Amino acid sequence: MLDLTFEPPKPKVIQGAKHDWELVIGLEVHAQVATNAKLFSGASTTFGAEPNSNVAFVDAGMPGMLPVINEACVAQAVRTGLGLKAAINLHSAFDRKNYFYPDLPQGYQISQLYHPIVGEGEVLVDMTPGVARIVRIERIHLEQDAGKSIHDMDPAMSFVDLNRTGVALMEIVSRPDIRGPEEAAAYVVKLRQIMRYLGTCDGNMQNGNLRADVNVSVCRPGDYERYQESQDFSHLGTRCEIKNMNSMRFIQAAIDHEARRQIAILEDGGTIDQETRLYDPDKGETRSMRSKEEAHDYRYFPCPDLLPLEIEQAWVDDIAASLPELPDAKKARFVADYGMTEYDASVLTAETENAAFFEAVAQGRDGKQAANWVINELFGRLNKEDLDITASPISAGQLGGILDLMAADAISGKIAKDLFEIVWSEGGDPAQIVEERGMKQVTDTGAIEAALDQIIADNPAQVEKAKVNPKLAGWFVGQVMKATGGKANPKAVNELVSQKLAT
Ligand code: ADP
Ligand code: MG
Repeated sequence: MLDLTFEPPKPKVIQGAKHDWELVIGLEVHAQVATNAKLFSGASTTFGAEPNSNVAFVDAGMPGMLPVINEACVAQAVRTGLGLKAAINLHSAFDRKNYFYPDLPQGYQISQLYHPIVGEGEVLVDMTPGVARIVRIERIHLEQDAGKSIHDMDPAMSFVDLNRTGVALMEIVSRPDIRGPEEAAAYVVKLRQIMRYLGTCDGNMQNGNLRADVNVSVCRPGDYERYQESQDFSHLGTRCEIKNMNSMRFIQAAIDHEARRQIAILEDGGTIDQETRLYDPDKGETRSMRSKEEAHDYRYFPCPDLLPLEIEQAWVDDIAASLPELPDAKKARFVADYGMTEYDASVLTAETENAAFFEAVAQGRDGKQAANWVINELFGRLNKEDLDITASPISAGQLGGILDLMAADAISGKIAKDLFEIVWSEGGDPAQIVEERGMKQVTDTGAIEAALDQIIADNPAQVEKAKVNPKLAGWFVGQVMKATGGKANPKAVNELVSQKLAT
């Protein structure tokens, strides 16, 4: 493992008009389980299908329909739990959470309040390189997603799309261990990265496949430490929950705004009402959606349609044995095996596809150089074109071929960049391109010497100056490079220039 410094959470401190305040944040992240079928029906989960085309009778709440659990969803929740080093509960159970809403045809959501499938775990949240925080996970439970009401398609009517109704969600609940907006975003980034490695959630926030309810409270310095010692929540301030955030930027802006709103009320002698709020990105503020008094009484009770969920340790062990190398381990290995910086390792391991591409390039080559080329040339170019690695026009084999030509001194680093451009836009085998287009580096000192002698003969005044001021030798190097179309071996040119000018 990496030699990380675990800093005690450093809270964001906001100066109020009267005193300093610290932030306390806990997140409930809803992650859509990556499976083909819904949690309790065989209907498809494909995004973007014709409205109401992916709906089984049970999703539509038809009378007499019974839910049947999808084993693949359970396996994904277990896999996620294992990836978060969490306790897996061999015994869990489903409960009904009752409420009325047009996009909830059953009249209740099947969830897991009392006996969730996953218990306590943790997430290592990367802050600056070498510095990480641990955010504790309280639980993960499986539940059904609701449908979607559409209010802006017709002036007089609302529409309902049930395609998402009954799709499996994992609700991942953190402890209130997050102490600032940046840390909250870093936590979501890390969760998303781990789930993408595991293949349990695609993390697509734009499609709403990953969204967070953000709980925010403020307290005075020292209060959080008292909470930590006792785990007594009364040391913390009253929290408000900001619902359904699906952008890292908005999560941070909403937290900051919400904390300042609470501070202003408290310093005015008021109290915070525990309530659910919505963030308005246009106004940059949160507003009340419902207060605790109006809070739903969900009348939770065990779902009579489903037996308790009993899973076997051997099955859990099989899933554990199939886990891929996860981001923290991969990053540590990249630092150790390739001698790269932790920062470079983070960039290369951000997505598992990026890491695999890099390793294919680095295989049997100079790891540091491979990292440089993948990060600076390839990722730089991909970013410019807004492409991801799976759409790279250059394969790992082709990039490796370019590195091999450099290692064999067949081309200089400068020519390698030109070659990269050619392979990027035209494809082809790098070695063959170098051969066919005469891009090979001139290491033949005879040819370089002839070019240099000509330049010296043509520029006597420049030679006199360079003999007095050795810094001017660079000019001759440049001229030789120009004369040879950039193909002269720079090292050979430098040596020859200093020899000739010294005499
Ligand atoms: P509920 O289900 O009513 O929303 P939970 O106990 O599940 O309540 O807590 C929801 C989230 O709120 C958790 O992520 C938890 O860490 C967080 N939380 C609890 N107390 C506070 C607090 N004082 N400040 C900030 N977050 C909090
Ligand atoms: Mg909640």
